[in-house]
Amino acid sequence: MLKKYSLLAILTVLLLSIFAGCSSSTQGKSEPEDDQDPILVQGPMPIEAEEFADRLDDVKEEKSGNFVFYKGTIEDYPVIVAKTGKGMENTAAATTLAIEKYDPIAIINQGTSGGHDPELHVYDIVLGERVTNIGALKTGDLEEGEGIEPKEWKPMDLMASEGSAGEDPDAENIRYYEGDQDLLAAAQAVKDTHTEGKVVEGTIGSADVWNNEVDRINWFHNKYGTSVEEMESAAGAQMAKAYDVPYLGIRILSNNKTNDGEYDPNTAAANQEYVYEVVKQYILTELNE
Ligand code: SAH
Repeated sequence: MLKKYSLLAILTVLLLSIFAGCSSSTQGKSEPEDDQDPILVQGPMPIEAEEFADRLDDVKEEKSGNFVFYKGTIEDYPVIVAKTGKGMENTAAATTLAIEKYDPIAIINQGTSGGHDPELHVYDIVLGERVTNIGALKTGDLEEGEGIEPKEWKPMDLMASEGSAGEDPDAENIRYYEGDQDLLAAAQAVKDTHTEGKVVEGTIGSADVWNNEVDRINWFHNKYGTSVEEMESAAGAQMAKAYDVPYLGIRILSNNKTNDGEYDPNTAAANQEYVYEVVKQYILTELNE
């Protein structure tokens, strides 16, 4: 008898807690609707991601490997900020993981960069009309004792064919990934909100390299048309293209060796402030139709 009652009591408690759980999960006022795919905003370093994450409403943090995803909303629309870590490998992995896990409607990769264009100054922002991998290179053919000739190195397009990149002459081309037109339009529409510098369209070059040789920087600027360099955008773009997800790199200059622009870490926050405006504009114009 006692057993029967205690079983009933346990069942009642269980049922009550299930009902309580249901109602509390639907009460959150800006709970995103299930059918809305999130916008993904990526930043490599803590100073390039956490400022943006702080701007989200109703944030929940999820971790996967080294990657941190801050899931929240902006004006009731789901937005996920990803702290990817620095460099091409981290970015490629974090992008693929986020696409598989969260099915984003669009991806913005943002953060700091070093200027290749002497017309651009610290606090100016480059919208990645094109991004390209400036670390994918094939050296010239030299024998022992003939030295190293970096200016003779050729671009190597790893996406050109499934054959050998070392043998295939078609692979000796620069591969550019185009920025998404709708994301670009949203970014262009809010250019005025960035007051510490100008906002221009340009080419972002990425590699796990920090170039401090001005002749080498000029070589990339002339040969590839790079406006800035950093270590992530091209890796994310390659993955976004593989899955056909709209993508844009947005990079602020934190340094520019070509015009003595000293490194300023505060640029990271200024870029996130601008990208926040871009995301709001994108939600308003592209996703609210
Ligand atoms: N460990 C390095 C710093 C790396 S910071 C050192 O101590 O020198 C690199 C980060 O800043 C990357 O996320 C990259 O995207 C960005 N970055 C800013 N300016 C850069 C530049 N001139 N070249 C390459 N990456 C740059």
